[in-house]
Amino acid sequence: MNDPADVERLREARARVLEQIAAACARPGRDPAGVTLVAVSKTVSAERLRAALEAGLVIFGENRVQEAAGKVSDVPSATWHLIGPLQSNKARRAVELFDTIETVDSAALARRLDSITAELRPGRRLAVLIQVNVDRDPGKAGVEPEALDALMDELEELEHLEIRGLMTIGRLAGSPDDARGTFVRLRQLSQRLRERGRALGPELSMGMTDDFPVAVEEGATIVRVGRAIFGERGAARP
Ligand SMILES: *Cc1c(COP(=O)(O)O)cnc(C)c1O
Repeated sequence: MNDPADVERLREARARVLEQIAAACARPGRDPAGVTLVAVSKTVSAERLRAALEAGLVIFGENRVQEAAGKVSDVPSATWHLIGPLQSNKARRAVELFDTIETVDSAALARRLDSITAELRPGRRLAVLIQVNVDRDPGKAGVEPEALDALMDELEELEHLEIRGLMTIGRLAGSPDDARGTFVRLRQLSQRLRERGRALGPELSMGMTDDFPVAVEEGATIVRVGRAIFGERGAARP
């Protein structure tokens, strides 16, 4: 049985985040149904994720394959996004565990995911996003903006991947508005590629606890929110 008090807390946290998404959508006149909430569950136990599921959270984001491997089968009927860097030796496990891999940033990794998908789940394409290092921050993963076109050349050849869109991480700076420029540039990159007929889906995964309202104002279709739902990582539960 899930802890009823925790289910209630998570239900309220989810409602607050959805309200903030709706408010951010109202500013540019977007439909909130166009924004998917990924609850970032790194460091959160499988037990607590079952409570989260009962509270209406259905998509979880994990940044490590190893950690997700210990949870996925314990939280049945959830959907999983990989949001952390993927090493090629963990690609097979990742295809087994995740519904969407948000962090594809090289042709080599994409080719590997493509052939594993063909082998493990014939007839079903694997949903991926391309992670873009919009700010060319040496501390972040992702393809640099000027290499995106060449990467798309290679990815379009891969029949078992569905390139749903782009993902980025905003600047971790003083105010949420510091990330706005990053989000605007990701949206523009996506628009430019799609206007040129690239086989790139419209998803824009951007925005975390500190900056998701700004990301939604700038067009995010997926927000990845951890602390605003589960509380500070490593802190004792409220
Ligand atoms: C941890 C993480 C998040 C969520 O961060 P919060 O600040 O807890 O909302 C989002 N995206 C990525 C890539 C992460 O690693």
